[in-house]
Amino acid sequence: CGIVGAIRQDTNVVEFLVDGLKRLEYRGYDSSGIAVNTGNSIERVRRTGRVALMEEAAQEVGLNGLLGIGHTRWATHGGVTEPNAHPHISGGLIAVVHNGIIENFETERERLQALGYEFTSQTDTEVIAHAIHYEYTHAAQGDLFAAVQAACQHFHGAYAIGVIATDKQDQLITARMGCPLLVALGENETFIASDVSAVISQTRRVVFLEDGDIAKLSTNGIDILVDKNRQVAERTVRVSELS
Ligand code: GLU
Repeated sequence: CGIVGAIRQDTNVVEFLVDGLKRLEYRGYDSSGIAVNTGNSIERVRRTGRVALMEEAAQEVGLNGLLGIGHTRWATHGGVTEPNAHPHISGGLIAVVHNGIIENFETERERLQALGYEFTSQTDTEVIAHAIHYEYTHAAQGDLFAAVQAACQHFHGAYAIGVIATDKQDQLITARMGCPLLVALGENETFIASDVSAVISQTRRVVFLEDGDIAKLSTNGIDILVDKNRQVAERTVRVSELS
């Protein structure tokens, strides 16, 4: 139901991720979670119920890193359980948050199971994590942006996603089709969110993505953005007046 993400030069992202999710709470949700690249691994905390419960759990384990993603879930496929809460992780390598519905998740699940992937949730979202993992470790050969582009060719439905990889501390990939998604530009830090209210405490400079957009973000902002025709595109930076 809500997504956030951040890549920062020298500030732990956990505080922003939790604060951003709390600002999205009013939209309704049943569970929440965050995943952070800690430098050599992806660590994840998920809980059903209030964001505050997930925040406590994150504090207990001392979650800390410069790159991370977060999610408040409104379950559409699979019950309200911790294994169904996002982020979803594939092979300890790829973590994904997703708003929306992958309509063809059953055929995708079969395709990915035949490739050897084991599913640990009942969500439609988990196919996204494994599909990106497959591309990343095969045709895309470690190019995370190319892997997300290739994986998205398989998905029918609506999505806004945030993607990080264990071995890529310098990039956050995001893609949009039919669900709201924006990039917010700070000083040496870049954010994503499904709603501007999640980022307004950090920066007012925002870029609203369009359907079919896939972007590679770094601490410098948008490094590459391709549109629905797979052409490199530019998007206008707007200054949000939301108070
Ligand atoms: N369809 C996904 C799920 O049920 C995402 C739902 C959402 O947008 O929160 O996990």
